[in-house]
Amino acid sequence: MDSVLVNTFTSGPDEDGRFGKFGGRFVSETLMPLILDLEREYVSIKDDDSFWAEMNYLWKHYVGRPSPLYYAERLTERLGGARIYFKRDELNHTGAHKINNVQGQILLARRMGKTRIIAETGAGQHGVATATVCARFGLPCVVYMGVHDVERQAPNVFRMKLLGAEVRPVSSGRGTLKDAMNDALRDWVTNVRDTFYCIGTVAGPHPYPAMVRDFQAIIGKETRQQMMEMEGRLPDTLVAAIGGGSNAMGLFYPFLDEPDVRIVGVEAGGKGVDDRMQHCASLNGGVPGVLHGNRTYLLQDDDGQILEGFSISAGLDYPGVGPEHSWLHETGRAEYVAVTDIEALEAFQLCCEREGIIPALEPCHALAHVMKIAGSLPSEHIICMNMCGRGDKDIFTVAKALGIEMTEE
Ligand SMILES: *Cc1c(COP(=O)(O)O)cnc(C)c1O
Repeated sequence: MDSVLVNTFTSGPDEDGRFGKFGGRFVSETLMPLILDLEREYVSIKDDDSFWAEMNYLWKHYVGRPSPLYYAERLTERLGGARIYFKRDELNHTGAHKINNVQGQILLARRMGKTRIIAETGAGQHGVATATVCARFGLPCVVYMGVHDVERQAPNVFRMKLLGAEVRPVSSGRGTLKDAMNDALRDWVTNVRDTFYCIGTVAGPHPYPAMVRDFQAIIGKETRQQMMEMEGRLPDTLVAAIGGGSNAMGLFYPFLDEPDVRIVGVEAGGKGVDDRMQHCASLNGGVPGVLHGNRTYLLQDDDGQILEGFSISAGLDYPGVGPEHSWLHETGRAEYVAVTDIEALEAFQLCCEREGIIPALEPCHALAHVMKIAGSLPSEHIICMNMCGRGDKDIFTVAKALGIEMTEE
């Protein structure tokens, strides 16, 4: 535990955007006015009923919320211990939780009179969600994407184009997500007046980590209510996969001040956390540093160079983690573990076979951890994991990993 006594975990960040020694805003002077402007607007909508009425309307009729809470009966039977529930955010429009946050940021952009939206994307899921909501509101959208990712994620590039977005390949650095985010920040500085930067996870300079968390917190709020309806009490353990950490923060946040609820984040262990940089486990295998405007745990070498992580799941390979997770890690309020690619693949297959749900490889990391702990817990114990994405996008990766050849018609 930190020496500072923490009475509440839901009150952060402080006014400088810090969660303990993490977070903050390490940005250039030119960016500062934009950030302050955004913060003002974000503070003003927090308790604005008309804003949340519009959010709720779209969540219900466009995204498909509330997402179901589902008792995974056959999986529970198989693992023979704790009762396992899935929060089914994979059923959202566009197939993951990303749209919860994008919708909030786009409504905010409209309030601010912004007429152009930019975003970064790695695997393409955030890019697709942003392009989707931009199409819905008739806003021009530019998505920055590393050249390497453009190659690897061709179907999502095509989806974004169908939705009317412009995809700008980024060749600086190693041509991946980190570099795309840098270019998006540069674009923002040069197009101050009309542009809104829509960030896809709980990272970036303050107020992004708090703002994205607040938009994703709908996941945990619904879970609380649904769990009360189905079980008459709160769950004992929450489990979610961590890339940047937005789906996890969304589920965890409304439970942070419930001391009896155990909270577990699952990082991408790739080929193993001991295997230098063959993983994406920033908390389990990284060190604190500054990236993209905030202080947090990062994958970096001894000279402070950011390293590329590795994971079978493209959506988990951000070389950092949201600063609030770093703080929850250091205070001990949440635990962070890692599972390997192989364990995630086993979870993928079991979920398909036992539950008739093809999950994305990201939540398979959470599920793999559930599979490790469920059997040794009593049958009264309730685990809730976030099924944050569906697996249609991953079937080719899985086929390849299993050595199965797919031929096109
Ligand atoms: C993007 C993505 C993630 C990783 O992002 P977080 O901010 O950690 O949630 C996880 N799962 C899915 C399905 C995603 O699309």
